[in-house]
Amino acid sequence: MKTESGKVSRRRFLKESTAAVAAASACSILEPGLARGAEKELPRAGVVVLLGPPGAGKSEQSRRLTERHSIPAISTGDLLRDHVRRGTPLGLQADSYMKAGKLVPDSLMNPILEDRLSQPDCERGFILDGYPRTLAQAESLGGLLKNKGLPTHVILLDVPTERLFKLLTGRRVCPRCNRSYNIYFQPPKKEGVCDVDNALLVQRSDDKEEVIRRRLDTYQKETVPAIEYYASQGRLERVNGDQSPEKVAAEIEAKLAAP
Ligand code: ADP
Repeated sequence: MKTESGKVSRRRFLKESTAAVAAASACSILEPGLARGAEKELPRAGVVVLLGPPGAGKSEQSRRLTERHSIPAISTGDLLRDHVRRGTPLGLQADSYMKAGKLVPDSLMNPILEDRLSQPDCERGFILDGYPRTLAQAESLGGLLKNKGLPTHVILLDVPTERLFKLLTGRRVCPRCNRSYNIYFQPPKKEGVCDVDNALLVQRSDDKEEVIRRRLDTYQKETVPAIEYYASQGRLERVNGDQSPEKVAAEIEAKLAAP
């Protein structure tokens, strides 16, 4: 129902959002492909914080988790790229940091994330890909999650440093569906073209050698302390990220299922 001003009324919007969340919630406890009567309870995903170096496969695993648990995958890199593409004031400021392989300051990053997490589709839980990346962000996230009462898993995709460089220089992404490929390890069926929608694959502007070195360096200096913070609290769950995406996904599911 639209109001006179043409906007969807708040009550209607909330009602529909709640129904959508309930429907998503109902779907997520049925494993796809199981016959009636053989439904299996899947773990309630809640919040999944995916940590790992650039190129470790966080976005691929987020995509799989989204499909399996019907909760949104929130990539701070994608949120920022969207602002850059739309030329918003925040995007214009973030752009130069991203191009240089530097972290975007929290004064720009945090409001964008907070706004996204306040959307109704995040009520049941969500996957965070690319946040937190610093100790300060880890602490700030703790504050944001405190009142949500959702079970939270902090999962680190462990990949040896020497492999990351090739993972990043070889990465190609589909500009239409965001799917990632790797020319060395996971090439598309047809060279240069997305398997799903036939769009021409592109190399991200920050996947150039010099920028990659900077990003890996930033990861060591800024993100490793955040990881150590979770480890020191006994909350870090490590997954071997140096194996096929299917095996990584299975390890993650095993972690989510554990009490
Ligand atoms: P990757 O994990 O491969 O570096 P992302 O898409 O996650 O790629 O991030 C791309 C860029 O976006 C980063 O290099 C950084 O400039 C910026 N960015 C993403 N997430 C954050 C964050 N949590 N804090 C600050 N900057 C971020």
